[in-house]
Amino acid sequence: MKFDLKADLRLSNDATSAIKTIDEFFKNANKTFLNHGKGKNAIVKEWNLNKDLLSLHIISEKYFRAHDALLQIKNKLSEEIGKKHKIGVRATNVREYEIEFELEKKPLREINIPFAELKIKGLKAILKLEDTSEEFLRKNYVDRMIRLVKEKILNQYYEGKKEFWHLIWQSEKKEPIWNKDPTEEMIKLGWVKQGPTKGKWFYGPQLTAILRTMERIAVEEILEPLGFQEIMESHIVPFEIWLKTGHLEGMPAEIYYVAEPASRDIEKWSKFIDLVKITKEVPYEELKKNLSLPNAGICYAQCPVIYWFFKGKTIAEDSLPLLVYDKTAISCRYESGGRHGIERVDEFHRIEPVYIGTKKQLLDLREKLLERYKYVFNEIFDLEWRMAWVTPWYLQQAGKIGMEENEMGTIDFEAYMPYRGDRENSKWLEFQNLSILGDKYTRAFNIKTQKGELWSGCTGIGLERWSIAFLAQKGLDPKKWPERFKEYLSELPEGIKFL
Ligand code: ATP
Ligand code: ZN
Ligand code: MG
Repeated sequence: MKFDLKADLRLSNDATSAIKTIDEFFKNANKTFLNHGKGKNAIVKEWNLNKDLLSLHIISEKYFRAHDALLQIKNKLSEEIGKKHKIGVRATNVREYEIEFELEKKPLREINIPFAELKIKGLKAILKLEDTSEEFLRKNYVDRMIRLVKEKILNQYYEGKKEFWHLIWQSEKKEPIWNKDPTEEMIKLGWVKQGPTKGKWFYGPQLTAILRTMERIAVEEILEPLGFQEIMESHIVPFEIWLKTGHLEGMPAEIYYVAEPASRDIEKWSKFIDLVKITKEVPYEELKKNLSLPNAGICYAQCPVIYWFFKGKTIAEDSLPLLVYDKTAISCRYESGGRHGIERVDEFHRIEPVYIGTKKQLLDLREKLLERYKYVFNEIFDLEWRMAWVTPWYLQQAGKIGMEENEMGTIDFEAYMPYRGDRENSKWLEFQNLSILGDKYTRAFNIKTQKGELWSGCTGIGLERWSIAFLAQKGLDPKKWPERFKEYLSELPEGIKFL
């Protein structure tokens, strides 16, 4: 790694009379605070003073970034010429900054990143920045830019590879009652209606009874026996939280954004109101003027806000493992072309349990959760399903095919969907998942305990997915449903008859 930086320091006054002090300062700097031994050196190769403009040329290697050297020079020089000559450093501008670093792999296609011109020759990359501010350097964008270049290249190698999927367990084959698409049939029966906007549904009394039964089963058969406590969170998530969890960089194209009104002052809305009254249409141009830029989005998964709740807390050891779940926040995802029936919707209902504890506590908990899940899917639903290790979402979102298994990682639960074709060749439906994510989020949100490290994880119980997996195998006639399920729901509401 090599750093080559040319910067201008704008001084508060003509410093010609201080030239001796400055000369000594740099001679000394190269020997003292810029010199940390081989590979850790920065050198001021050249400097030039023109009245109040001090130009510098700094070069450095691997462990001492030239921009860090510049920031140190600025501070120390200000002190020196401040004391002796009452001159300060007003502003810093990095005219040119070249960073050369080694790559592990050659890019397969051209790549670009913001803020810099990128040139790659073989395994050597050169970033060229121009007119960069001090703030830019202070905030360490440079290191993140280097990381981003490497990440983008690695992602090119993952693209198109088969997704990581490793079967853990599979139920026995079950003869399905039918092989129709349940959503299509429920639309015909008037149990559900698409809309009013894309990917949203109106659930009539019959399907609502089924979704609520799924919720009850999850709570009574899984969460309560394991000691989970219910919490209720907001389902509007500020960007600050997603910056920490990685969702903002991971799925910006799936988020439903939330904008606040620019003002509550009804006067400011008067033109908008008049236009609505006259045209009976939505005056979008006028609306734009009255909205703030979005600063939040609708819940994507419930766990980020749960982590936010525990942010900065030290949890008493006897409260561990911490077991909570939310079943209030509704999730929205812009699924676009992927939408299908009630199984891939833009607005869905999910229970999300979150657990925080020691590594051992979470590994034990996973076993217990798996045992309860198996009980529900085998004994109550009588489902044909399987479990597989898959790429955890935070690797997936970076376009990577992950290989985390056993201690950390994500398990998907998939159900056979007879309407999609035969078992072997059709795509099974992920109806829920279970993750242990190590200290990724406890670290990001600074959640601690008295001693030792905390891990966390979550498991997403999608009510639409549970329902559709069940109905796809067991049909819509409660008389044909498994006995144990009928203990929860044996008759559907009559619904509403239309003439
Ligand atoms: P998929 O691969 O099907 O898109 P995902 O990996 O995006 O799912 P997660 O982010 O792991 O899903 O969400 C956890 C759970 O939320 C899923 O197991 C599923 O039950 C539910 N879920 C996710 N997306 C949808 C959706 N569009 N419609 C209905 N349920 C969903
Ligand atoms: Zn989660
Ligand atoms: Mg998805």
